[in-house]
Amino acid sequence: MTTQTIRNSTAVWRAADTRHHLHPFTDFQGLAAEGGSRIITKAEGVWLEDSEGARILDGMSGLWCVNVGYGRERLAKAAYEQMLALPYYNTFFKTATPPSIELSEKLAALTPEGLSRVFYASSGSEANDTIARMVRRYWQLAGQPARRNIISRHNGYHGSTMAAASLGGMQPMHELDGLPLPGFHHVRQPYWFGEGGDMSPADFGIAAAKAIEDKILELGPETVAAFIGEPIQGAGGVIIPPESYWPEVQRICKAHDILLIADEVICGFGRTGHWFGSNLYDIKPDMMTLAKGITSGYLPLSAVMVGDRVADLLWSEGGEFAHGFTYSGHPVACAVALENIAIIEEEKLVERVHDDTGPYLQQQLASLAEHPLVGEVRGVGFIGAIELVTDKASRGRFNPKGRAGTLCRDHCVKIGVVSRAVGDTMVVAPPLTLTREEADELVKRLRLALDGAAADLNIK
Ligand code: PMP
Repeated sequence: MTTQTIRNSTAVWRAADTRHHLHPFTDFQGLAAEGGSRIITKAEGVWLEDSEGARILDGMSGLWCVNVGYGRERLAKAAYEQMLALPYYNTFFKTATPPSIELSEKLAALTPEGLSRVFYASSGSEANDTIARMVRRYWQLAGQPARRNIISRHNGYHGSTMAAASLGGMQPMHELDGLPLPGFHHVRQPYWFGEGGDMSPADFGIAAAKAIEDKILELGPETVAAFIGEPIQGAGGVIIPPESYWPEVQRICKAHDILLIADEVICGFGRTGHWFGSNLYDIKPDMMTLAKGITSGYLPLSAVMVGDRVADLLWSEGGEFAHGFTYSGHPVACAVALENIAIIEEEKLVERVHDDTGPYLQQQLASLAEHPLVGEVRGVGFIGAIELVTDKASRGRFNPKGRAGTLCRDHCVKIGVVSRAVGDTMVVAPPLTLTREEADELVKRLRLALDGAAADLNIK
């Protein structure tokens, strides 16, 4: 056997992976016991290929990030050319690079009015840590240093660093090491299907927003710095808030003079059929977190969009902002982001998802609501969720939670489609390039996985 053949053997890779590689959000021993990882070797368009040659339809755009699909030579060329011209230089100490400048100008133009400055990092987590620090600094400078508390939602996801995991409302993440840090508070999420009971979605949306006001009053408005939320919670299970939610959240933030932050890491760059989730819900945030779709995941890059209210004060009164990363404004990542945005614009991917393929995909997904295992299908643009229930009428949940989701996800793997199970909610977020034919194939495969899980659970 040649060295190449040995290196290319799935068994050899799996063994080395099991021995040496600790995967994120993974039960290390459990993965090993199941025989190790599936090894993805190639991808083109919306199709992945594993080391055994199996083709898999990627209904999740990697981790909600490969918005323009796989195999884009233009992005590889942009990275190659920038690497030859200037592979790295920092943006500390009064220096900048052309891609970081041009991308800042582009992002200021693309994002909602008033967000005209950009602070770069490499991940969504780092960007959210930056936001936590920046809003507290803002209130110090504004003469209200007691405003340090930040409110977010249970089951929201904002990242895995200490501050970002504290901002997030994921209980297992908090339990890992005793988070949240002081000053991070959580309120109920606008999850009507799971928590709305007998209320109408509209009334529930108002009630979920009111929980933010209750928390503000409990803490004392003079101690609250900001509220942060994903326009649509992604990792929490594609929680699409009732229409009444965001207008009320904005009213509350304004009434108590609290900064409003939209975490657009998943919703940004066309996912909802709008450039940003803030456009979909007419949110006017003071700051915005961007990552993932900014480069379609081809390189790590994130950005904090800073609104004029915050930026003007940091600018005029702040002196040195003592925070930053080696890779803030990395020139290669910024060059790839610029090319990625050019592709989204030239191929009119946002318009396509808004007018054509998004409504089509949602219509096809909605047909799954007839399935005996499905209690609700919801979605907008190219993001969607399928709720699995024991009983449709009462929205009955599985015990233990996640039993049906895990079974369904395992069938997805066998069938060759990626859909993520969040408890008993199956979620999808395919690349924005998905065609109608590929949408048909995606839904066909999801239906087969639902059939398989229903048979396992003896649900007819
Ligand atoms: N915010 C949101 C809304 C996210 O979905 C994620 C990642 N899934 C993050 C922040 C964290 O991003 P990263 O994993 O790049 O740190």
